[in-house]
Amino acid sequence: MRGEKMINENEIYNGLSTAEANKLLKTHGLNILKQNKKATPVKIFIAQFNDFIIWVLIAATIISGFMGEKADAITIIIIIIMNAIMGFVQEYKTEKSLEALKKMASPTTKVIRNGNVQVINAELLVPGDLIVIESGDRVPADAIIVTSSNLSLDESILTGESLGVSKSSSNRNNSVFMGTIVLRGKGEARVVETGMHTEMGKIANLLQNIEQERSPLKDKLSSLGKVLVVLCVMICIVVTALGIIRGQDKYQMFLLGLSLAVAAIPEGLPAIVTVALALGVSRMLKRNALVRRLPAVETLGCTSVICSDKTGTLTKNIMTVKSIYYNDKIYNENRFKDEKLYLLKRAFVFCNDCEVNYREKNIGKSLVGEPTETALIKAFFTNSYDIKTFLDSAKRISDIPFDSNRKMMSVIVNEHGRKISYVKGAPERIIDRCKYISIDGEKKAFTENYKKRVQSVLNDMSSKALRCIAAAYKDSGIINGNQERDLIFLGFAGMIDPPRDEVKGAVLRCKEAGIKAVMITGDHKNTAYAIGKELGICSDLSEVITGEELDKLDDNKLSSIINKIKIFARVSPEHKLRIVGAFKRKNKIVAMTGDGVNDAPAVKNADIGISMGISGTDVTKEASSMILLDDNFTTIVAAVEEGRVIYNNIRKFIRYLLSCNLGEVLTMFLSSLLYLQTPLLPIQILLVNLATDGLPAIALGVDPKDEDVMYEMPRDKNESIFARGLKEKIIIRGSLIGICTVLSFLVGEVLNMPLRTCRTIALGTLIMSQLIHVFECRSEKKSIFQIKLFTNMSLVMAVTVSIVMLICVIYVPFLQIVFHTDALNLFQWGIVIFFSAFISTINSVYLYFK
Ligand code: ATP
Repeated sequence: MRGEKMINENEIYNGLSTAEANKLLKTHGLNILKQNKKATPVKIFIAQFNDFIIWVLIAATIISGFMGEKADAITIIIIIIMNAIMGFVQEYKTEKSLEALKKMASPTTKVIRNGNVQVINAELLVPGDLIVIESGDRVPADAIIVTSSNLSLDESILTGESLGVSKSSSNRNNSVFMGTIVLRGKGEARVVETGMHTEMGKIANLLQNIEQERSPLKDKLSSLGKVLVVLCVMICIVVTALGIIRGQDKYQMFLLGLSLAVAAIPEGLPAIVTVALALGVSRMLKRNALVRRLPAVETLGCTSVICSDKTGTLTKNIMTVKSIYYNDKIYNENRFKDEKLYLLKRAFVFCNDCEVNYREKNIGKSLVGEPTETALIKAFFTNSYDIKTFLDSAKRISDIPFDSNRKMMSVIVNEHGRKISYVKGAPERIIDRCKYISIDGEKKAFTENYKKRVQSVLNDMSSKALRCIAAAYKDSGIINGNQERDLIFLGFAGMIDPPRDEVKGAVLRCKEAGIKAVMITGDHKNTAYAIGKELGICSDLSEVITGEELDKLDDNKLSSIINKIKIFARVSPEHKLRIVGAFKRKNKIVAMTGDGVNDAPAVKNADIGISMGISGTDVTKEASSMILLDDNFTTIVAAVEEGRVIYNNIRKFIRYLLSCNLGEVLTMFLSSLLYLQTPLLPIQILLVNLATDGLPAIALGVDPKDEDVMYEMPRDKNESIFARGLKEKIIIRGSLIGICTVLSFLVGEVLNMPLRTCRTIALGTLIMSQLIHVFECRSEKKSIFQIKLFTNMSLVMAVTVSIVMLICVIYVPFLQIVFHTDALNLFQWGIVIFFSAFISTINSVYLYFK
């Protein structure tokens, strides 16, 4: 356990109280760097009108108002404003959820207040706070070191120099700066400057314009949007020109063309994609996955390999020592209090970084630290008072903390004036450094015979899924890592870390979804294999490879075998980068988890970098695109599922919006080609747009998941959004909507109905066929009768609102005047329903029998 602190003689400092901190917060303000000004709601609203065609339409409407068409002009303006409100609501909602997301992902820090270590939001730090920093942390403010152990920082963000800089309270280099990264060791430091007063704050203005991340899908849709704009505008010009050639009122035709352009151009498409992604992000959050980058949501759906750490992600990270091997004997749980284990006990307890809260009686609650280390103490003690007495018998002088590359940890302690070194770590690493073995308190040569015996017990314990930690000592002080040699082997402890209950099911779900689950662990091959087998990750020892074997393979060889490997054991964080590279060369989309500072490069390089919310370091969190709030593998699978659902939903509303818009354009285009009267007036076209484009499309964006979603193979990352028949669906259905609307109008004309009635029939048909089609868009395989209609209540409500809107426009006398409609009788409604439901019925029958 941590020994004496290296406290400067005149600098014993115990931090602030909460009351002092709150008071100081009022004077110094939040510990944040100045941010760019956010878009205000007013700005967002005004931006909705920032569209050339809208301005032309407004201008044209105002002119038409002066020319006498006052009611028309006012209604058009009202509709434009309502559209803008709809756009505003979407964008504001997105902005808010992105902001909330940023807040959730904002860094936390460990601080000692009222004498206790607490985790607080880094924004709340004040000068005077005592912070605790350790490897992987990003320093939250400028501070002076008070105590330290092996502290080394990466200050490249300030100095450009990427070599680690050693820091300690006892030398002149005792300041740490906001934004720098702790590479090694740990320490406590007193905050001296926060926010814009820090060194980082002084250069903060340089960092203001960090580019916002773009979503590839949104980019693709934006360029598609541009093509569609040109196409729509061309068609609108043709429609207008044909009308004018036929001698219709020029001004009316111009207005018609503009209205059609406003209705048909899917300008909202990229915005709705963002809404769908942002809403998806909040759904993922409910399932404990915090997405840090919006585009990651798209990629998640394509994931084909999930590489996961074992400890804590696949397992519970609740360690209990089950067996101890010492003195060439195996001790089971009920014999851990045996006096003979004294020396091993000293090694495990002194070479240990747990903190003990002596005020807490319950041993479980009194220990704060890594589960591996707390388990080693709990094996020997039942109450914290005994630990204190035991610890008082030695004082730590120095240490080399555990790191997952070395897989070991060493301390030097002073026991009654004698310097003794204790080392603990992965058994192979320890065995290699031992020349002697302690048997019955005697130092004997660590002969091949002993080594074989130790190895066989080790193999036996690890194949029972026990995680083994060995211990050794030396009766002199070791100064640095290279001198951990000629040690005296003591023994090892085997601890169980049970798999998480829900992971087995999640691994199975991965298999069904065509995703490969891979375990990457620093643990022993046998332990990893035993757990992997239990979880269904692997079935044969040939699917396991160790870090040592990996080192012997070049990148090409590794790529050639990587598809067969399910477990990487005894690997170091550096290996993870090679693993990601090898999978990528095989065209896999890789999700990779990580927690420690050394995992950050692999996490950054993976298609989906995942960090741990509980055990993860700041640096890894910053490198990741998603944080698992519960460190649980199941959450990754849930996030992949959500990723697929969101992508499918985006396809749904793209299908809906584009086929409907095509239907609207074709209605006008066909009728002008056929030299018919214009079936819809400008104001009616705008109404169609309002009734069908807004709410129903958004409701499709939150469509609940399809049951089949995790039974399909992952989609290709480069696949077009229109792939798998979507383009054809849009073109065919769009054309049919247009044709049916024109036909309904023609039937009215043939039956000698007044023009106003014919237009109302066309209006009804165009709106109703879209409102029926929106339900079809919910599935690409199932018919409207096979989908459970009421599983998306938002859609049902959105469609109801639109139908009510249509009925009001047709029957409310005042609106009849405004929208130039006629009350329809039952027969006329029959025409509307026939033409709007006709294609859907045929399509449903076809899908049903397919
Ligand atoms: P994963 O990568 O799945 O989280 P892991 O936790 O086993 O696996 P590491 O933390 O790198 O990976 O541990 C590797 C090995 O180092 C362990 O198998 C154990 O033998 C040893 N070890 C782990 N923690 C400590 C520690 N605190 N002190 C000494 N040795 C340790």
